[in-house]
Parts: sequence; C-alpha cells; structure tokens
Amino acid sequence: MADKASKQPENVPGAWFVDTTCTPCRVCLEEAPNLLKYNDDETYVYFHKQPENDEENGAAQRAMDVCPTLAIGNDGE
Ligand code: SF4
Repeated sequence: MADKASKQPENVPGAWFVDTTCTPCRVCLEEAPNLLKYNDDETYVYFHKQPENDEENGAAQRAMDVCPTLAIGNDGE
C-alpha cells in the first residue's frame, strides 16, 4: 500500500499520489498517460494532474492496480 507520508514532492495537490517506492517501471504511464509523467531525470513518476472525471478516475485506478511496487495511492482527500 502506498504511503502518503512518503509522497514524491512533485505530485500536484489532491487525492492521488506516487510515493518513493516507484522504481520506475513505467507500466502506469500506459494506463494514465494524461495524469502521470516522469520527473526530469526519469528516476520516478508522479501525478502532474489529478483526475477530474470518471474516465480519468478510471485511468488512475488502473494505474494503481498495475503498479508492481504499490507506489500509487489515493488518500481520499
Ligand atoms: S507502475 Fe508503479 S513503480 Fe512503475 S512507474 Fe508507475 S508508479 Fe512507478
């Protein structure tokens, strides 16, 4: 389970986040390319946009489901 106390600092404010356990394997980028992207040196990914509709919420959920390190979380805020 992703740890909201270890969020990557670049995540935009909101419920969805990537924590510091991202490897990065990039499989989530295929599920939610509009929401997630690499940091500058490609050592992890983060949410540059929060989901704003059902379609985007579904994409974020799929990204969370495929993440092998459980780095993606939703703290419900
Ligand atoms: S699926 Fe998980 S470990 Fe892989 S890049 Fe995305 S957040 Fe990082």
